[in-house]
Amino acid sequence: MSELKGEVAVVTGATRGIGRAIAAELAAGGASVAVVGTGADRAQAAADELPGRGHAGFSCDVSDSASCRGLVAAVSDQLGDATILVNNAGIARDNIVLRLKDEDWQSVLDTNLSGAFYLTRAVARGMMKRRAGNIVNISSVVGLTGNRGQSNYAAAKAALISFTRSIAQELASRGVRANAVAPGFIETDMTAGLPESVREAMSVRIPLGRPGSPSDVASVVRFLVGPGASYVTGQVIVVDGGMVMQT
Ligand code: NAD
Repeated sequence: MSELKGEVAVVTGATRGIGRAIAAELAAGGASVAVVGTGADRAQAAADELPGRGHAGFSCDVSDSASCRGLVAAVSDQLGDATILVNNAGIARDNIVLRLKDEDWQSVLDTNLSGAFYLTRAVARGMMKRRAGNIVNISSVVGLTGNRGQSNYAAAKAALISFTRSIAQELASRGVRANAVAPGFIETDMTAGLPESVREAMSVRIPLGRPGSPSDVASVVRFLVGPGASYVTGQVIVVDGGMVMQT
């Protein structure tokens, strides 16, 4: 299927993990993908591996406003104006609140939340003019539930959900949709460092009986930005094997 033909998709944190799988799914759907990483070489190498043509790698520090503006301008020059934005780049700096350093609080907020704001602002005008566009923000189930040892990360991911709902309301009349995806426990570099005991404890809490894979998340993102979700905006889609079921 090439339902995303003609789309230009910007995917942050796309050199590995969930972002890389999202880039591959959107490329498989026919989109031109701007693979965004912290280093240009790795981003270009990841872009070269995507199926289809018209992809390119870009470097950007999403926690930096000027870097985000520069990214959106560079994508416009090389691939055309962004029609899809996936704010996936994220970091965790875990610690109990008593031991959390100022810089660990700030860097997690800057990367997970401010980055989504900077990039959304930079692409929104073009999308509104075209009366079409899609923004997907990668949140987390801990943004819904909170999590001990992750007050900074959970606060950023919860705020990202409110940000998503707010921009969905602002942009809907111009044909631009915005949704969030909240993954549960997904096997990536981010979770690879967890102690085996924590991994086992989490797996027991997953009704589907296994951790998720990056492609489990990526296929939902592809659905959300595609024609099958044309009447879906301002929603949070939880992709967690049933770990968190909210009323
Ligand atoms: P990962 O650590 O494998 O990848 C994160 C990517 O973000 C990397 O490519 C990294 O270079 C990039 N990045 C970090 N800081 C950046 C910055 N300042 N500017 C640009 N890029 C930056 O992590 P992942 O598990 O693939 O996570 C992807 C997203 O999914 C994150 O937002 C994460 O919070 C979220 N998430 C992950 C899980 C999980 O279980 N793995 C669960 C819920 C949510």
